[in-house]
Amino acid sequence: MNYFFVFQNETYKWEHRGGYLWAPQYGRIGQRVSHYETMKSVKQGDIIIHSLKKKIVAISRAKKDVYAAKKPVEIKNPWQDQGWRVDVDYITFAKTIETSDYKDELLRLRPKTNAPFNRKGHGNPGYLFLANKEMYDFLLHKILGVQTDDSEKQKIINLLNLCNDLGQEQIDLQIQMDFEEVKATQLTQQQLARHAKHSRPPKTQKTESTVYYRSPYIRELVKTFAEGKCQLCKLNAPFYDKDHKPYLEEHHIKYLSDGGSDTMDNVVAICPNCHRKIHILEDEEDRMILFQKAEENQKRYERLLRYAEGIEESSCGAMTERI
Ligand SMILES: [Zn+2]
Ligand SMILES: [Zn+2]
Repeated sequence: MNYFFVFQNETYKWEHRGGYLWAPQYGRIGQRVSHYETMKSVKQGDIIIHSLKKKIVAISRAKKDVYAAKKPVEIKNPWQDQGWRVDVDYITFAKTIETSDYKDELLRLRPKTNAPFNRKGHGNPGYLFLANKEMYDFLLHKILGVQTDDSEKQKIINLLNLCNDLGQEQIDLQIQMDFEEVKATQLTQQQLARHAKHSRPPKTQKTESTVYYRSPYIRELVKTFAEGKCQLCKLNAPFYDKDHKPYLEEHHIKYLSDGGSDTMDNVVAICPNCHRKIHILEDEEDRMILFQKAEENQKRYERLLRYAEGIEESSCGAMTERI
């Protein structure tokens, strides 16, 4: 199965309505054009990512191999009547994302040749380009993250499952983490504490699994506890992230891969420098300091949780009294 990326702009309306992709066989002066030539390699079952005005608006799958076809009457292409056509099923999204928000990632993920984005991360002028599974997965996860409607989410999850070699459990876990990730960054400290209490992997995790569940609630909460300072060297975070929060990394003192738990008493927030150091040196003294920190985090978390749950209860109580 191959992946493609199409820029449709003015023709999207017609191509979407008609369920196809169409491109002329040659350019204006009869020359070969690489972004039209790409059409010739589309086969049944291939996946196409659709971009309209810098937004990812749909995903489609080729219903059969590409074939030579005359220009559909509704397409106002001025110079060529002979073209290539691929019949596809479009799947559109209720909410979408702008590719310009992910320039760096798309640059990193783009294929080596015939890529839809140039070295500056801008879309290349043209019609059909090559994509790959990594780009597809990345974009769909981001699109999944902005959906609010459950049926929309399910639709995208199905699209993600379409072509994954990870087991079903692994996919579910990855998706759960993607969901929570977006949510966690928008919660208050008290809300995080309440979520952290309940968040755990959906099922008992098998030891051979390659994806380890990490609660984003715990991670975000520990970061708020760190108050912008590394919990090992105590220095200020080296920079602010895109959300203007001090940049710290989460570290599991006993590694998850060694059976460490994703719980407050095993997680600290540290600067990237210390994080590297710990993984390279595995210094016992550092470990002790971090365990102490984690213990403080745990205590603070318990206090916060009692407070948060207290508020919740008293507000429930107030409600029932009124009734
Ligand atoms: Zn540090
Ligand atoms: Zn770590």
